[in-house]
Amino acid sequence: MAVRPMVGLDSTYFWEGTLADQLRLQRCNNCGALRHPPGPACPDCGALDRGFVVAAGTGTVFSFVVHRHPPIPDKELPILLALIDLDEGVRMVGEVVDLAPEELRIGLRLQVGFNRIDDELALPVWRKAEA
Ligand SMILES: [Zn+2]
Repeated sequence: MAVRPMVGLDSTYFWEGTLADQLRLQRCNNCGALRHPPGPACPDCGALDRGFVVAAGTGTVFSFVVHRHPPIPDKELPILLALIDLDEGVRMVGEVVDLAPEELRIGLRLQVGFNRIDDELALPVWRKAEA
């Protein structure tokens, strides 16, 4: 069994999105600011009225870690975890796959994909973008 993310009220839109092959970003319906991770109130204007937009699914590595230890259930190590600057201007953590650890570097362009675990869960994964 895969490690399942916490799906709370504030992030339902995100996980419904990954099941539809969409990377969704929360957007304030009052001022239009994008944010991730999701939260109940807009950090810019404080409004509670929120919706989402579908991101292009491309971004740039801002920083990363190569996780070699400790072991994670059902995961082959090392795992590449990157902090990714999306082209929409928000930052999120993502797992980078199909890439050798020594190829991962700051500034690398990435493209999101979706790893479907079962009928109820798909996890976003990131791969090196086609040049
Ligand atoms: Zn706002």
